[in-house]
Amino acid sequence: MGNQPRDRRIPHRYLITGGAGFIGANFIHHLIQREPEAQILNFDQLTYAGNLESLSTITSRNYQFFQGDICNQQDIEKALKQIRPTAIIHFAAESHVDRSIDGPEAFIRTNILGTFNLLEQTRQYWEQCTDSSKQDFHFLHISTDEVYGSLGKTGFFTEETAYAPNSPYSASKASADHLVRAWFHTYKLPVLTTNCSNNYGPFQFPEKLIPLILTHALQGKALPIYGDGSHIRDWLYVEDHCKAILTILQAGTPGECYNIGGKNEMTNLDVVKTICLCLDKIKPKPIGSYQDQITFVADRPGHDKRYAIDASKLKRELGWSPQENFQSGIQKTILWYLDNLLWVENILSGTYALKSKNKDYCH
Ligand code: NAD
Repeated sequence: MGNQPRDRRIPHRYLITGGAGFIGANFIHHLIQREPEAQILNFDQLTYAGNLESLSTITSRNYQFFQGDICNQQDIEKALKQIRPTAIIHFAAESHVDRSIDGPEAFIRTNILGTFNLLEQTRQYWEQCTDSSKQDFHFLHISTDEVYGSLGKTGFFTEETAYAPNSPYSASKASADHLVRAWFHTYKLPVLTTNCSNNYGPFQFPEKLIPLILTHALQGKALPIYGDGSHIRDWLYVEDHCKAILTILQAGTPGECYNIGGKNEMTNLDVVKTICLCLDKIKPKPIGSYQDQITFVADRPGHDKRYAIDASKLKRELGWSPQENFQSGIQKTILWYLDNLLWVENILSGTYALKSKNKDYCH
């Protein structure tokens, strides 16, 4: 393997892009718990998906926020000067497949040009570092299993699976992955790439499947399911994802890609039914089941049939495996949403728009 754990004696300095989004915010909370001495600069443009309320409980003086755009050279330069990072974790992206179908341009701009800009600014910063700082530095790029395209009934995506993206979102993430790879091979920038499956958990915006179903269920609205609900995804509890990212940062081999999955393959219909059954127990309706609200809607164009992740490399080489199964993770998620209805309400009533082009997004 030849990978040396990073020096844990120095408090690290992290530049985190997209830290006001779903996974980024969970990661910052996790990082503050695991490394209270670390300096953290959260760099986020605060698009419709960015929400500082997800970070409002942070009291650490080691945490700072920087509002900036990854496509803007000067913003990145300033942030790099401010934190002088020992690691960059790149979450910032346009992340919603449906939005990419309606308006792909923002995805090309942020996911491809933004990643390019971040890589270039990072390279210039890294090349000026001392030899020992250079060696300790890592750029971790967060990507998705959607770059691999769609699977049939059997098989799993491994790190060797050929890229075959089918949506503007996955194509833009695949392009970014290729740029990251090229910056390693061409400039020796110490990069790591992770490709993970569908995340769920606290702070996820209500346009994605699980929070959308939860909020609609509680509001007595229809629970929309694409097609016949037979599409299969692998579900990863976000805290397991955060643990995997730290493990890879500490012991991953630069230039390598790591698949991260939850070992929880489920059809969309089963996900929705499981949420309904949990809610029936935790917050029963006066009459009937939440399942009565399920409705089937026209399928998404180019909808990939099945994703399934083989995360055995990460287990074999770095010892990570997910701690939560879907039952335990969804229970925690539902309880979190029930305890944080105000967080959801503030999103739904605030500047954040679930609608675009007068269209309700599904998931
Ligand atoms: P999100 O949409 O919740 O958050 C994205 C964040 O990036 C937001 O805070 C937004 O304000 C910020 N951002 C967008 N454009 C920006 C720009 N130009 N400059 C600076 N900040 C900008 O996304 P997420 O679900 O937290 O996903 C984070 C990363 O993980 C993404 O790269 C996504 O592709 C990847 N990923 C997500 C999932 C998932 O299930 N959510 C699965 C696999 C991979």
